[in-house]
Amino acid sequence: MSKRLENKNIIVTAAGQGIGRATAIAFHNEGAKVIATDINDKTLKVLNKEYPNIKVKNLDSTNKQTIEQFSASLDRVDVLFNAVGFVHHGTILDCDEKDWDFSFNANIKSMYLMTKSIIPKMIKQNKGSIINISSIVSSLRGLPNRFVYGTTKAAIIGFTKSIASDYIKNNIRCNAIAPGTVHTPSWERRVQAAKDPVQAKKDFIARQPMGRIGAPEEVASLAVYLASDESDFVTGIVHPIDGGMSI
Ligand code: NAD
Repeated sequence: MSKRLENKNIIVTAAGQGIGRATAIAFHNEGAKVIATDINDKTLKVLNKEYPNIKVKNLDSTNKQTIEQFSASLDRVDVLFNAVGFVHHGTILDCDEKDWDFSFNANIKSMYLMTKSIIPKMIKQNKGSIINISSIVSSLRGLPNRFVYGTTKAAIIGFTKSIASDYIKNNIRCNAIAPGTVHTPSWERRVQAAKDPVQAKKDFIARQPMGRIGAPEEVASLAVYLASDESDFVTGIVHPIDGGMSI
């Protein structure tokens, strides 16, 4: 039986850990040829050791020059999975200009640079799927202390819909995934950095009506669907995966 992503060439960003890593593995398990990119050589090495058929590449998704060099080395790209993101904690008053610029650079400019560099290949192929990781904290919901994070994640939704609408005739689909809280290393770090980590964990879980947080593999399953031809009629949509947070 053929696999769901057989023969697809896929680029995954932020693939060293968390959602990006789980998604790179899920794509690989469904038969795709995956290039996993990240700025962390250590985690990429671990991934490549466990999955020697997943190619790894140190790539800063905010660096235009290296992205263009990388893109020039690629032939066909069927799927681009944009997952780079950083969570700034605080309100507008806690957000200096440098925090604002850092978050916009990491969370949305990275997607602009990666997509702009890869999309000409998809236009030539007359086919492609772009998947952007937004968040429930965006234009879907506001939550305390996620001022600049939520602002950038809302921008990703506008970005996704614009790309979807501009390239629909080129058979290029663009969708966003909006996770609730997911168990990843950066989430663990946020919990441990809280004044009372035990209470912080309880508070995170309490936000999720299902009474648990998500697993990166659950987000990866949704990404497999959006990457595959099974979702050929789906574009410009934000897909929440959040344990009921957005009901
Ligand atoms: P994470 O924060 O644990 O890891 C992020 C990865 O991105 C790291 O491997 C890091 O090295 C890499 N990275 C950082 N800057 C980079 C850059 N400039 N270029 C390339 N790689 C870079 O991952 P996560 O928690 O799985 O989050 C992944 C995405 O999902 C983010 O966009 C995040 O905002 C989003 N998200 C996460 C959650 C959650 O609860 N974990 C919820 C909603 C949305």
